[in-house]
Amino acid sequence: MKIRFWGTRGSIAAPGPATIRYGGNTSCVELRAADGTLIVIDCGTGAYGLGKELAQSGEPVIGNLLIGHTHWDHIQGFPFFDPLFIERSKWTVYAPGGGDRRLQAALAGQMAYEYSPINLDSLMAELSYLDLTEGVFEVGSIRVTTQYLNHPALTLGFRFEVDGATLIYACDHEPHSLHPLDAPAGAEPIHHEDRRHVKFLAGADLIIHDAQYTLADFPVKLGWGHTPLERAVDYAIRARTKRLIFTHHDPDRDDDAVDALTVAARERASTASYTPEIDAAAEGMIVELEGDKEVHRGSPGSDSSALLSVSGRGPATVLIVDDDPDMVILLETTLRADGIRVITAADGETALKQVREKRPSLVLLDMQLPDVDGMKVCKTLRDETDPGVRDIPILILTGLKLTEADIVDAFVAGATDYLTKPIKPTTVRSRVRGWLLRTAAP
Ligand SMILES: [Zn+2]
Ligand SMILES: [Zn+2]
Repeated sequence: MKIRFWGTRGSIAAPGPATIRYGGNTSCVELRAADGTLIVIDCGTGAYGLGKELAQSGEPVIGNLLIGHTHWDHIQGFPFFDPLFIERSKWTVYAPGGGDRRLQAALAGQMAYEYSPINLDSLMAELSYLDLTEGVFEVGSIRVTTQYLNHPALTLGFRFEVDGATLIYACDHEPHSLHPLDAPAGAEPIHHEDRRHVKFLAGADLIIHDAQYTLADFPVKLGWGHTPLERAVDYAIRARTKRLIFTHHDPDRDDDAVDALTVAARERASTASYTPEIDAAAEGMIVELEGDKEVHRGSPGSDSSALLSVSGRGPATVLIVDDDPDMVILLETTLRADGIRVITAADGETALKQVREKRPSLVLLDMQLPDVDGMKVCKTLRDETDPGVRDIPILILTGLKLTEADIVDAFVAGATDYLTKPIKPTTVRSRVRGWLLRTAAP
């Protein structure tokens, strides 16, 4: 497969003399399989240049657009993507669905009268929209596996398998936990979701990964939904990938700063027992992946379809267990805005009663509760014999100062996921939505 970078910048386009080598356009990558199947990954401002090239002949263009999430830096090129203005062009647009708005509405929103001279209905190409969740689907000869990333919007990472090679695209993503903090390069993450992420990346020939920040930029950037470069390197080492290309460069980083990051990343990787090749993504960069092995048909995760069907299921119920009334109001408002039915409990005993009686789809559980604390509630539920109670996903929320032991203990007690306060409503919303979609899969 052939890969070409058209946009490598995160957040906002940053063109100019200081970013000339790595590029100023936002996320867009072109992927071509040997049989000609075309996938455009993300549609940031970089898609403008790609569109010009694809539309050069004036002939209709058939392609697929995969959008990891609909933040502006991943969709702003859409209204300026020339193949959409050619009659008989056919495009299938894929993006995570099941949130508050369907994909088509999100794209139409940025093309509304107030923001754009062209609206979605005036595009001449034949367009179809498909909402995605976690799972697998095929685009021509390309097998695509999706997995949720950790970002303050419902976001999917993609694993592409074709022509005997594997490519990962994971933007935008923040580690679920930065722990272990001072461990050597390539150390195993302690948060279950971070381990799951590494599994998703495993054995790829190339990983294109978000690395907008560095560990030094955290904690100021904690919760912004991006990976510190050191962790992108660690994941690449653990996943035994051949090559890491880090991308979604911070708009504040000029070319020299990206050079310095590349040097630092290679140094970090050189201290590990396995050293992947590492480069920074640059606009115009072309990579050809040669297939030298069987396609990884046994890719990680379930084999269920990633194509989201509109189910007749009613709204999901989430139980919020917290003794802090302000926190309950914040969480309740956040989840209700996403059409979720909310029930609450202020102590452990009530929480156990609520779970047994109401069978919520998910429990948001505070650790510090009067009498029966969160850890005990978690353990009690996991010891139940009724699978309808025992297997309910439990998302731990804690205001405690985060230590490695806290997270390890919570997972030992049976927690499904672990979030640390202060919690951004956008993060909680996408995390809860992700879990509801995951557990609703057949
Ligand atoms: Zn982004
Ligand atoms: Zn984003």
